[in-house]
Amino acid sequence: MTLPSHAQIVVIGGGIIGCSTAYHLAKDHKADVLLLEQGTLTSGSTWHAAGLVGQLRSSASITRVLKYSVELYKGLEAETGLATGWKMTGCLRLATNQDRWTEFKRLATTAGSFGMDMHLISPEEVKRMWPLMNVDDLVGASWLPTDGQASPSDITQSLAKGARMHGAKIVETVRVTGFEMKDGRIVAVKTTEGDVACEKVVNCAGQWARQVGDMAGINVPLQAVKHQYIVTEKIEGLSTNAPTIRDPDRRTYFKEEVGGLVMGGYEPDPQPWLTGDLPNDWAFRLFDDDFDHFEQHMMQAMERVPALENVGVKQMINGPESFTPDGNFILGVAPECKNMFVGAGFNAFGIASGGGAGWVLAQWVIDGEAPLDLWVVDIRRFAGMHRDRQWVCDRTLEAYGKHYTIAFPHEEYESGRPRLVSPLYQRLKTSGAVFGSKLGWERPNWFAPAGTEPKDVYSMGRQNWFEPAGDEHRHVREAVGVFDQSSFSKYELSGPDALKALDWICANDVAKPVGRLTYTQLLNTRGGIEADLTVARIADEKFYIVTGTGFRTHDFGWIADHIPDGLDCTLADITEEWGTLSLMGPKARDVLAAVTSADVSNAAFPFGHVREIPVAGATVRALRVTYVGELGWELHIPIAALGEVYDALMAAGGDHGIRPIGYRALESLRLEKGYRAWSSDITPNDTPFEAGLGWAVKLRKNIDFLGRRALEGLAGKPLKKRLMGFTVDDPSVVLAGRETILRNGEPVGYLTSGGYGYTIGKNIGYGYVRNADGVSDDYLKSGTYELVVAAEKTPATLHFGPLYDPSMDKIKA
Ligand SMILES: Cc1cc2nc3c(=O)[nH]c(=O)nc-3n(C[C@H](O)[C@H](O)[C@H](O)COP(=O)(O)OP(=O)(O)OC[C@H]3O[C@@H](n4cnc5c(N)ncnc54)[C@H](O)[C@@H]3O)c2cc1C
Repeated sequence: MTLPSHAQIVVIGGGIIGCSTAYHLAKDHKADVLLLEQGTLTSGSTWHAAGLVGQLRSSASITRVLKYSVELYKGLEAETGLATGWKMTGCLRLATNQDRWTEFKRLATTAGSFGMDMHLISPEEVKRMWPLMNVDDLVGASWLPTDGQASPSDITQSLAKGARMHGAKIVETVRVTGFEMKDGRIVAVKTTEGDVACEKVVNCAGQWARQVGDMAGINVPLQAVKHQYIVTEKIEGLSTNAPTIRDPDRRTYFKEEVGGLVMGGYEPDPQPWLTGDLPNDWAFRLFDDDFDHFEQHMMQAMERVPALENVGVKQMINGPESFTPDGNFILGVAPECKNMFVGAGFNAFGIASGGGAGWVLAQWVIDGEAPLDLWVVDIRRFAGMHRDRQWVCDRTLEAYGKHYTIAFPHEEYESGRPRLVSPLYQRLKTSGAVFGSKLGWERPNWFAPAGTEPKDVYSMGRQNWFEPAGDEHRHVREAVGVFDQSSFSKYELSGPDALKALDWICANDVAKPVGRLTYTQLLNTRGGIEADLTVARIADEKFYIVTGTGFRTHDFGWIADHIPDGLDCTLADITEEWGTLSLMGPKARDVLAAVTSADVSNAAFPFGHVREIPVAGATVRALRVTYVGELGWELHIPIAALGEVYDALMAAGGDHGIRPIGYRALESLRLEKGYRAWSSDITPNDTPFEAGLGWAVKLRKNIDFLGRRALEGLAGKPLKKRLMGFTVDDPSVVLAGRETILRNGEPVGYLTSGGYGYTIGKNIGYGYVRNADGVSDDYLKSGTYELVVAAEKTPATLHFGPLYDPSMDKIKA
C-alpha cells in the first residue's frame, strides 16, 4: 500500500498496542487512522510474548482496563473472523509463607472490591486442579477463574483486521525517521517513504518508543530488558485447560502450550539491553539462549513441577521487552508536545493490557483528556530526572527484580538514591531521619529515636516505625513540629490575565484580594478532579501555586494546557527556588513570633492568608494553612536561606520542644482531620460533590469554569457515591487501602486510604459508599458497616465529618 500524504492520526508501531489503538480509533471514533510499522505486524516484542493474561492490579481503573482486554479478546473473533487464542483457564498464585499468604488475602479483598471473585484455596485443592504440581511447601493459593491466556500474534492480527474493517490504513515496512514540528507541535511525520501530514501522532513503538519520542523532544523513560522463557515438549498428563500459574516465591510462571509448558521468570539480577538507541533492524529477532542465566528459574521450576526433569526443551525464547522505573506502563499525551500521545513500556503485561490500553488511549487521543483515572500510568508522573538514562536503567532493573517479591506496604525503592535532596538533608539525617523518595526527592518519613537503627523494617503487620511516628504525631497535636516539605511543586502564574486564566481553570473562587489563599480543585470536563492545590494571590497579577511533589509535571501541564488562548499570562515552575518548612502545632505561633518581627497574631494574620515576613534575614512567604489540622504556617523560603531559617526555628522552638516530623506522621494527622489526598481519595473519577468538597466550588458565582457544565448537570440529582470516613476499633487490624466496605453485609465500595489515627487511637479509612439509587444521609445513617480486611470482616463505624477537631477551633485560633 502506498502512503497517503495526509492522515488525521498516525499510529507508530504495529505491535499489540498500536493495533489495538488503531482498532479503537477507527471503530469507536471513526477516525482517519494510518498505522506505520517499520517491519511487519507483531515483529517487535509482541510475537514472542508468552501470552499469560492476568487482570488484577492495585488500581481499580487499571484493573478495569485489563478486564476490558479479556472481554474484547473473548468476542473479537466473532467480529473479525480471526481467532485470538483466548482461553479462560484461570490463574493460580502460589503462597509458600505467611507473609505471602497475607498478601494474597489482601489481594483477594482487593479483587472483591473491584468486583472480581478471587478465591483462596488449600494446597489439596491446588493439587486437584494441577496434579503435576508439587504442593508440599504451599500454604495455599489464590484462584482467579476469569484470568487466562491468549495468542499474542493472533490477537494483534485480529485487531489489525478489525481496524482495517473500520477504515484504518496499515502500512508495513515503513519506518518513521523524524517529525516536522511547528510551534512545538508535530505537523508531519517523516518516513522512509516520504512525509505524511497529520494532526496527531500516537507513539506505540514499544521499546523503540524512547527513540521515537526523542525525535520530537519527548522523554519516554523506559528500558529494554532481556526476558527469557522456555517451551517444553509435551508433558504426559498435563491438561490443555490447565490454569496458568504464578509462583512468586520461586519467581516463576507457567502456562500450558500444545500439551507442554511455557515457563519463565523474573530474576533478581535482570539483564538490561542497551541504554542507548536500539537497532531498528530487529524484526522477529531474539538474543542467544542464556541457559546459565536461566538456570535459577529452571531449578525452582523443577522443584515445583518435577515432570520438567524428564521433558525436553523445545525452544528457548530470549527477547527484549520494555520495562519502566515503577513497573507501570506509560500512557497519555506527552508533556513536551501537545499532539504526541504515547502507549509504551508494558513491563511484560502488554498482552494482558493491550485491548484495554488501546481503548482508553484512543479515547484520550480524541478528547485530549483521559477518560478515567489513569494517573498510575500517566506519562506526566515522570519529570526531568527521568531523562537520565542510567538512572532509569538502574531503577527499572530494581523494579523488574521486585516483580515477584512480596509487596510490603510502605516499601521504598533503593536504587538511584539520593537523587534530589533539600539543603536540610544532612541536618535531618543527623536527627535520625529515615528517608523515602518521591519523584527523586529524599523526604524524611520518620525519625528513629536515639539508640534505634534508622531503617525501615518491612512486615505485613505494624512496622517498626509505627510507634516513633505515633510520638511525632502526638507531638504535633500537643506542642509543635516542623516538616521539611521542600519537595512541594511550586509555580507562579503572572501577567495581566493571570486571574482570568485561574478563574477558568480553578473550581473555587480565586478572585480574592492580594494576601489571600484559596484551596481549590481543578476539574476536567466531566467534573472529575484533576488536581487539588493551593493558590496564593501574592500581587494583583501574580499567583503562587503549591501542589504535591509527585504531581509536578501533571499539574503544571494541566494548568498550562488550559490557559485559554489569547490570555496574557506566564506560568513558571519555580520548585527548586523555594524550600518549604511547615511549622505546625498549638505552639507554632509562639515559635514563629520569636523569629520574626511581623505580627503573627490571629487578628493580624488570620487563617487563609499569605504574608511576606522576615525570618533570619530572609523574606519568607508564610501561608497560614494546614494539612494536619493544627494551628500552623507553611513557610516558603528562598532555597539558599532554608538552613538558616530552619536553625532559627529550631533554636527558638527549643523551649517548646520543637522536633522535625516525617511524612508518615503527616499521613496519620491528615487522616484524622479528613483531608483528602489526590490520586487516592480524590481522582479524575470523582467530582467535588462526591468527595464532600462541594463547598470549594464557585457554582453560586456567575463565572464559567472548566467542569462547571458537568457539575450543573449533577446539581440537585442524588449522588451515586460519597466519600465517607470509617474507624475500626480492633487494634490488631491493619488498614492498607482497597478494603471492601460492607453496608448491611453487602459490598458498597472500598477504601481509598487506610491508616491509623494516633490521637483518636483507632484505625481510619476513607472510601466511597456507592448506591445506584442515591447515597442520602438517611441511607448512610441507616446502615451497619463492616470492612473486609485481608479477607476477614471487621465491624466499622461510619463518620460524616473529620474525626478530630470537627469545629476547626484549633486551626483558626
Ligand atoms: C519473553 C517475553 C514474554 C512475555 N510474556 C508476556 C505475557 O505472558 N503476557 C503479557 O501480557 N505480556 C508478555 N510480554 C510482554 C509483551 O510482549 C509486550 O508488552 C507487548 O508485546 C508490547 O507491545 P507493543 O505494541 O508495545 O510493542 P511491540 O510489539 O514491540 O511493537 C512496537 C512496534 O513498533 C515498531 N516500530 C518501532 N520503531 C518504529 C519506527 N520508527 N517506525 C515504525 N515502526 C516502528 C516496531 O517494529 C514494533 O513492531 C512478554 C515479553 C517478552 C519479551
